[in-house]
Amino acid sequence: MMHWAMEAYPLPRAAYIHVPFCRHRCGYCNFSVVADRDDLIERYLKAIDLELCRLDTPTIDTLFVGGGTPTHFDAEHLQSFLKIVRERFHLSGCCEWSMEANPEDITRDKVAMLHDHGVNRISLGVQSFNIDKLRVLERGHSPETAVNAVRAVAEMIDNVSIDLIFAAPGETLADWQSDLAVVSGLPVTHVSTYALTFEKGTSFWSRRAQGDLSAASESCEVDMYQAARQELSVAGFHHYEISSFACEGSQCQHNLGYWKGLGWYAAGPGAARFVEGRREVNHRSTTTYLRRMESGDSPTAEREAITREQYARERAAFGIRMIDGVDLEVLESETGVPLAELCGDVINQSISEGLLVKPLPNWIRLSDRGVLFADTIASRLLG
Ligand code: SF4
Repeated sequence: MMHWAMEAYPLPRAAYIHVPFCRHRCGYCNFSVVADRDDLIERYLKAIDLELCRLDTPTIDTLFVGGGTPTHFDAEHLQSFLKIVRERFHLSGCCEWSMEANPEDITRDKVAMLHDHGVNRISLGVQSFNIDKLRVLERGHSPETAVNAVRAVAEMIDNVSIDLIFAAPGETLADWQSDLAVVSGLPVTHVSTYALTFEKGTSFWSRRAQGDLSAASESCEVDMYQAARQELSVAGFHHYEISSFACEGSQCQHNLGYWKGLGWYAAGPGAARFVEGRREVNHRSTTTYLRRMESGDSPTAEREAITREQYARERAAFGIRMIDGVDLEVLESETGVPLAELCGDVINQSISEGLLVKPLPNWIRLSDRGVLFADTIASRLLG
């Protein structure tokens, strides 16, 4: 089997840092999170510094700090965290530095601190502007807090993204349209929308199994997704990836890197990285991660060397999420894998089903209907 040549793979120019702390765990969340464990923050700061120190100050063009809730840190801890990050990376002049934030944590002082350290993009976990939906989702903020947080961030940081969830239990299409209508009145440059999923291990999963919560019907979910496409486009957002909508020039460069198959460093509990043809994932448990870092062990729980064919297939599968699609000729020249041939049957099948189109001879993209079946197409391309 042919393995990806490490020396042929450029060093990553992107990094992800996972901050696992949250005030409480929302019922639908299956991220690597610790709730109400602020006693671990000092240990985390030492561990993350140590893990990042091993990278040897790489130069990066995009940095994404996610979680968890990075803005859950108090001012002193946030300051320490930001200083560590700045010391452990060389941020290129045009570096996009995104940070996830919770509306309830936003204060002018915190935003000023983020801005002063170089954070230039905030991704706010708004999820909804409807109080009943926020309660169902077990979010801690009110619609007013969300609106005020967006405005407070936008006063200092131009690039403001919000996450919105649809298909929450009991939500109607009209409820979702009301959420979308609020967006156009806010200084937001990017919107990510996700249908609620019931993940195994979450309290929502158990509640659904007990009949306490019910999922939206598939047709309702499709109507809501189409409403987002329609209404965000009217509001001036360009649909550039299955779940992502951006104003001109505000596409998330970090996420584009993932979808284009570029490598990235990652640190923190549960963080996944792709460096020199190897995919690695850190231990998901924050306490295990901390113990391993403190005893000088590797935080890595899983490692996999990616073959060249796997790499090419993954690039196609992730790339097809982008509304503009994938240039198979570029993909072949960059990976050496003749993907158009290798996946010829599944590409032709998907075209005949009306799910894929070929705008150019070597280019594939999802059709309007295919956008609803992106996961199916992706798994076909993975083989
Ligand atoms: S705030 Fe976000 S990361 Fe934290 S528990 Fe809720 S959904 Fe999960």
